[in-house]
Amino acid sequence: MSYSEDVRNIFTAELDNIRETGIFKEERAICAPQDSEIEVEFPIGSEQKRVINMCANNYLGLSSHPDVIKAAHKGLDHRGYGMSSVRFICGTQDIHKTLEEKLTEFLGTEDTILFPSCMDANAGVFEALLSEEDVMIADRLVHASIVDGMRLCSAQRDTYKHSDMGHLEKKLELHKDKRLRVIITDGSFSMDGDLAKLDKIVELAEKYNSMVFLDDSHASGFIGKTGRGTHEHFNVLGKIDIITTTLGKALGGASGGCVSGRKEIVEMCRQKARPYLFSNTVAPVIVEGALEVLNLVSKTTERRDKLEKNTEFWRKGLTEAGLIIKEGETPIVPVMLFNAKLSQDFAKDLYTEGIYAIGFFFPVVPKGQARIRTQLSAAHEMHHLEKALDAFTKVGKKYDILNRTKQEIIDKYGM
Ligand SMILES: *Cc1c(COP(=O)(O)O)cnc(C)c1O
Repeated sequence: MSYSEDVRNIFTAELDNIRETGIFKEERAICAPQDSEIEVEFPIGSEQKRVINMCANNYLGLSSHPDVIKAAHKGLDHRGYGMSSVRFICGTQDIHKTLEEKLTEFLGTEDTILFPSCMDANAGVFEALLSEEDVMIADRLVHASIVDGMRLCSAQRDTYKHSDMGHLEKKLELHKDKRLRVIITDGSFSMDGDLAKLDKIVELAEKYNSMVFLDDSHASGFIGKTGRGTHEHFNVLGKIDIITTTLGKALGGASGGCVSGRKEIVEMCRQKARPYLFSNTVAPVIVEGALEVLNLVSKTTERRDKLEKNTEFWRKGLTEAGLIIKEGETPIVPVMLFNAKLSQDFAKDLYTEGIYAIGFFFPVVPKGQARIRTQLSAAHEMHHLEKALDAFTKVGKKYDILNRTKQEIIDKYGM
């Protein structure tokens, strides 16, 4: 027997180790479509509870929008359930090309190539473009999928301190003799909710003859005046060489991702990017759904405007309640608790109050920076946010952390 008791024991011991660190991930079952209110079984098998959802990436509230669902049905009826093929054999339908064109238009780039996910886009893009003579210089807080994509590429890897433009410039100077330089950043950083200094990054890129790579997964659809993303917000539309983003967050929330940017870069991906060449094409249902999403967000900025209002209300409300949040302007609003156990207890009590949000701690965030990450949605109505504020205030009072300084909270609960 190949899977012997010894082998089983190795994995059992490793799983026990993970349990001991307290970061064993337990899934909760959502028994409803994704929305501002959901039915949750937590833990799975327990009684269902209706709660306000404060932790989805459903920024625009489009994950269950009737027009998107209708479009997805149309995709199913006219183009079938699946393609059973990668893109370049017989997996490219007319609608895939249309979606690529619409994404190009929306993101303000030259061309776009779809991937099964943004994780796949990030896994494929660097290896397709770069080789040993080149260097990738990444912000130290970029998304895990970018880190993995960089690992798959033979170009030299380097990093700069988070959003530290002085440090980035030093690295650009250091690597000025390489064939190609790429500055790599997220647009909106998912744990802190801060934006990359993209205008400064573009300036440095021009000065040092470097390309810019932007993963705008937490921005596409709602950051910037018309929701095109971080490049619109910083007025550098058309100046980003490589944008990757996901259809799995604000843009419908199903799945799928893309590389969008300079046309030669996109063509290189069509020739060489392995997840594009060797993984199945995006399903027609999702393609039609995404087309409707782009239609909706191009027609009106109503949803991103509502999201912006909700975000302002929420940031102001938490601050006035006496909680410590990470300053910023995005709908990712971390409530800082610093202590890991406190973040878990706090989240549990919120759940009792009918609010669903997740506590994050090391190693997901640095030690001593445990927090509850809240995320706003255009699907939230004022009554949701008012109820959620009441719950945060009530639980904050229980733990006596309202109007306390960071040091006071750390003194009381430890790091
Ligand atoms: C969510 C996310 C991804 C992964 O997107 P998928 O389409 O779900 O694979 C990649 N990069 C960033 C920055 C993300 O936030």
